[in-house]
Amino acid sequence: MIIPIRCWSCGKPIAHLWEDFKERAAKGDAKKKILDDLGLDRYCCRSMFLGHVELLETAAEFKKY
Ligand SMILES: [Zn+2]
Repeated sequence: MIIPIRCWSCGKPIAHLWEDFKERAAKGDAKKKILDDLGLDRYCCRSMFLGHVELLETAAEFKKY
């Protein structure tokens, strides 16, 4: 849905880095490089970004009111 505010495993705040990650990934930068630049060195936090699928827009279409 939306990126969790903190990493599920270690509790590091990560949500503020999402927009930056998304922008650079869309531009075609290597994901490894982006994650390194954002200072995400634990694999738990990195997995949060790599495995995230943004579905907010899709789910919002089904809002009933
Ligand atoms: Zn983490």
